[in-house]
Amino acid sequence: MQSYHFPRLFLALLLFVAACNTDPKPSDVVVDETPKVVVNAPAFSADTAYNYIQKQLSFGPRDMNSKGHEACAVFLISEAKRFADTVYMQRFDATGYDGKTLKSTNIIASFNPQATSRILLCSHWDSRPWADQDSKDQDKPILAANDGASGVGVLLEIARLLKANPTANIGVDVFFIDTEDYGKSGYEDSYCLGSQYWAKNSHLLGYKADFGILLDMVGAPGAQFAREGNSAFNAGWVLDKVWTNASQLGYGSRFIQQSIGPITDDHLYINNIIKIPTIDIIHYDPTSPSQTFGAYWHTHEDDMDAIDKGTLEAVGRTVVYTVFQYNAEKGVKQ
Ligand SMILES: [Zn+2]
Repeated sequence: MQSYHFPRLFLALLLFVAACNTDPKPSDVVVDETPKVVVNAPAFSADTAYNYIQKQLSFGPRDMNSKGHEACAVFLISEAKRFADTVYMQRFDATGYDGKTLKSTNIIASFNPQATSRILLCSHWDSRPWADQDSKDQDKPILAANDGASGVGVLLEIARLLKANPTANIGVDVFFIDTEDYGKSGYEDSYCLGSQYWAKNSHLLGYKADFGILLDMVGAPGAQFAREGNSAFNAGWVLDKVWTNASQLGYGSRFIQQSIGPITDDHLYINNIIKIPTIDIIHYDPTSPSQTFGAYWHTHEDDMDAIDKGTLEAVGRTVVYTVFQYNAEKGVKQ
């Protein structure tokens, strides 16, 4: 994915204006972080999610057209079939920015397929073929523990929970997106080829979900998640819902109230093309070399050391809670 930075001066001016304004702003509201759990949600296991990340890395890098990619596809399809009611596979040839044919597989694990109220949960499963942010071995593929495997690990654990705890009032579609990370800056729309393909050719004709949540880099130690621009623009109410839930579960220090600029990630195409309001939960770190993503990003440091069970738990519990809260809401209204 790519980020765009606000000019520093503009940011400074914004902060200055905010500081001079005496009216209370939403960001001034003190968030009560006392847990207020009102919906019964099954217990998310960070251990299981962690093991799922390790399992993906055991195949080696999962970059396009590699053996690791093919082996991981077989594994994901088999796990999806173990848990979901229906599994859809989309095999297609994407064309990279360099003209290369990329053998791609989108996988959609569908729970309660008859339900008309639906939530879409997604994460990309391919890994970057280069370590272009590293100082060494830039041409070698990365393991992508956080940038790929972490979101998929969390979603596999959620799929396991949905099998054991079916949602009667809503359907959930767990979408493992391929071909996200073959992009190159300067080449427009060269990232996110799997979500672009799916948004134009959804697995079911006329597919709709009420909202979507994309997970990207959700496992780093101490990670914080900010209110990303494309999410706020297209799906502000989803952002509010998820951030409120995180706060009420006691994760307000991780799901921070800060707004950041737009990031081009899979959710952008899901919002723009198939019009499903979708947010991105993505690790934000302004202190890193990229000033946006963690220091491991697109380097060989993105291995199991870039994964922390506490972070997986914060994200996993928040998403699971949001799913079961929506299921409870739909049960009351129908
Ligand atoms: Zn990436």
